[in-house]
Amino acid sequence: MSKLITFNTQALLLIEKSNTKSLDDFSRPRNEMATASEICGCYRKVILKMKSPAKPTARELRQKRRGHIFEIDQAERFKVMGFREVSPEEFPDASGPCFTRQLVVEHPDHPIGAHLDFAIKHKDGSLHIIECKTTAGIPSEPYGNWIGQLHIQLGLLAVSFPGIEIRGSILAADLSAGEEQEFNSFTPDMTLFGFYVEKGLELIEAKAGRIPAESMPGILCGYCPYRGGCPSHNDQEIPIEVECRITEYEKLDRKKKDLEKRMDPMKNELIEFFGGSFHGVTVDGIAVATTMIAASDYVDSKKVKKEYPLVYQACKKGKAGYTKLEIKKLPPAPLAKAA
Ligand code: SF4
Repeated sequence: MSKLITFNTQALLLIEKSNTKSLDDFSRPRNEMATASEICGCYRKVILKMKSPAKPTARELRQKRRGHIFEIDQAERFKVMGFREVSPEEFPDASGPCFTRQLVVEHPDHPIGAHLDFAIKHKDGSLHIIECKTTAGIPSEPYGNWIGQLHIQLGLLAVSFPGIEIRGSILAADLSAGEEQEFNSFTPDMTLFGFYVEKGLELIEAKAGRIPAESMPGILCGYCPYRGGCPSHNDQEIPIEVECRITEYEKLDRKKKDLEKRMDPMKNELIEFFGGSFHGVTVDGIAVATTMIAASDYVDSKKVKKEYPLVYQACKKGKAGYTKLEIKKLPPAPLAKAA
């Protein structure tokens, strides 16, 4: 690894340690609390992370940092639009429009809490919370665990600020693609909140070792450092969240193939029209270019390997292996013959 990458990874590790420490500000120790993100995640992972924390990989550290950078950016957007930033301590009494970051909200009777990415107070005193998610590709619908997490936050805010109008949204951003999507109009649902409180109390029991920690497979299992020995992966059961992702992928793949089928003849027509060398721009500002690619030779590597093994050994270059993913819809099962 290059010196600068090692240096940067070390820096990110220090930033991550300081961020994790700053989030340890509940009224009880973190291992006695159930947080909104933990309640909506896998309990086995939460407990194993608590007992034997795995060092995050450089990639994970960079991905987490991407989330923090997005939050810094979002704060700047609020400020430039006239929202004053106040500290979490000042927030309850501050007049709107203002916002705060990482507001701690806790249940008055149970060890359940959350940190809110953004809590906003409008001029009329109503509150809005925003849960930020940075992803590679924005899903068409918010994931179930994102919604669950937001509902816990809304419930906790509702019990902390009784009688105040409260709304919430999830802001998903794909920073590389420059895309953002808001999933909004969430309001506190105290029945749902009650369900999550019960789940949180179960997690507390598991944290204390009084009940086993259930594994809850999901789309993020692929990144889980505790996947080895995980009972959810022994029988290869596909969780619903992953099923949805497969369906979406299969649909997009079919769409891509259909588009390719429509694009290929158009491409040939355009090449026929422009010939082998053209550069121009349409009235709508679309650049068009055709370039001749010279014919080239290729070597039959199988033949060289068999007939000239020494040449093959001297000239071969390694290529990293990769995992191939194949997803395709199976034909409908034939109908059973009538007896
Ligand atoms: S692999 Fe998935 S189900 Fe198993 S512990 Fe990790 S997150 Fe939980």
